[in-house]
Amino acid sequence: MSDAVVEVSAVFDTILVLDFGSQYSHLITRRLREFNVYAEMLPCTQKISELSWKPAGIILSGGPYSVYLEGSPHVDHDIFKLNVPILGICYGMQELAWINGKGVARGEKREYGPATLNVEDASCPLFKDVDHSKVWMSHGDKLHALPTGFKIVATSENSPFAAIAHETDSIFGIQFHPEVTHTEKGKQLLRNFAIDICKAQNNWTMENFIDTEIARIQKLVGPTAEVIGAVSGGVDSTVGAKIMHEAIGDRFHAIYVDNGVMRLNETEQVYKTLTEGLGINLTVVDASDLFLGRLKGVTDPEKKRKIIGNTFINVFEEEAAKIKPASGQEIEFLLQGTLYPDVIESISFKGPSQTIKTHHNVGGLLDNMKLKLIEPLRELFKDEVRHLGELMGVPHDLVWRHPFPGPGLAIRVLGEVTPAQVKIAREADAIFIAEIKAAGLYKQISQAFAALLPVRSVGVMGDQRTYEQVIALRAITTVDFMTADWFEFDYSFLKRVASRIVNEVDGVARVTYDITSKPPATVEWE
Ligand code: GLN
Repeated sequence: MSDAVVEVSAVFDTILVLDFGSQYSHLITRRLREFNVYAEMLPCTQKISELSWKPAGIILSGGPYSVYLEGSPHVDHDIFKLNVPILGICYGMQELAWINGKGVARGEKREYGPATLNVEDASCPLFKDVDHSKVWMSHGDKLHALPTGFKIVATSENSPFAAIAHETDSIFGIQFHPEVTHTEKGKQLLRNFAIDICKAQNNWTMENFIDTEIARIQKLVGPTAEVIGAVSGGVDSTVGAKIMHEAIGDRFHAIYVDNGVMRLNETEQVYKTLTEGLGINLTVVDASDLFLGRLKGVTDPEKKRKIIGNTFINVFEEEAAKIKPASGQEIEFLLQGTLYPDVIESISFKGPSQTIKTHHNVGGLLDNMKLKLIEPLRELFKDEVRHLGELMGVPHDLVWRHPFPGPGLAIRVLGEVTPAQVKIAREADAIFIAEIKAAGLYKQISQAFAALLPVRSVGVMGDQRTYEQVIALRAITTVDFMTADWFEFDYSFLKRVASRIVNEVDGVARVTYDITSKPPATVEWE
């Protein structure tokens, strides 16, 4: 993005989390934001001189490495020149100890799980209201000496240096993980650090974010340039489009591509909500014949996904080329609904030789179109996007909608995707979702859908033999979609749904419920 544009981290007091590759690093950022302190994560190799903003404080995360081994990552010592409070967590504390005397070695035994914390120095501001609580440990290395200039502030049975603090400076180290929910007072400790010690303002709210972000977009886009973006009817693209519309009005052009494998009445609903409801300048392209034509005869799931992805790009580019901005200029920007977890994943420190993975939500588009990327949600977690959507007047149902895969029903119709097959899957899905909503279960479930299986089964209807297909229902609960469990419906609920589907959807003779967790299964069938 342009240098002239002020970053969010320059507007809100920001705690910088330097990531040493712990699986919990992003949780540190999460916890801080939960009490409205803005936090951003960067790789531990970040050069402080290259930061364009000054953090209010720095947290060094945990990590899988050992500070004393060659090739392990180390922090830029310029962090100490910033004169801001520093908190090292686990590897982060070992790193502080290594820098200040090298007293770190392999411990006699690993310490993994709960421990009770004894605060030895009650005057330490980090431990305000945190004494004698359960903390969660996960380490094999240990401090065997107090680093130069530090004192002990807390101990646990196995860790004589469970927490240390610098004698004079605001530098702290803790062996346990305050960011995991198993650490009882972890959030309080992080709050003590961010608000009391770093004096960070806790004003990171979506209300404040809206204004900052709109001003940022206006500055970035300027007074005349135009922006395009794809919308799917999902929460991320809709909230992104709404922000763009607020910022630059009709100079933002949203394009919705009907790929022929959307859910029942979806295109009509998206059109109504985005145009009538939210006032967004939207073009709907009906490309269903093109998509279904290209999918003809294809049964391999990966091929289906590729065809849909590529066709989407073709259609989007063609439509974008038709848009002629009033200014006579070319379209300059592409809106992309990147969220913070994608950003974290792409910058996360994953090994001594740092790999930065670039991600493409709409792969290939940029190369051909030479558009600059605009990502208004790149600082936000999903729940923050939802909150933002509610604040900006995006309808509640849309804000809380279950995720829907890019290839749509094409991967929920197993085997060949024909209009007749899509129709069956679509109708069965609509019944299932309507019943879930009627039973008040929609929000308890993370994702639910009906898949059409490419097998036939014998049935009997009105004394006649039938030989029709099978619907598999799937409903899962999950926090992060990395692992998932199936939802435990009442039998009476399943009975009602099954009965409605076989009675109301032509072509279905049998209904089954998928009771596999992820792993080993995935959420979608293909
Ligand atoms: N790898 C280090 C250890 O085993 C740090 C672990 C951690 O940060 N969770 O002690």
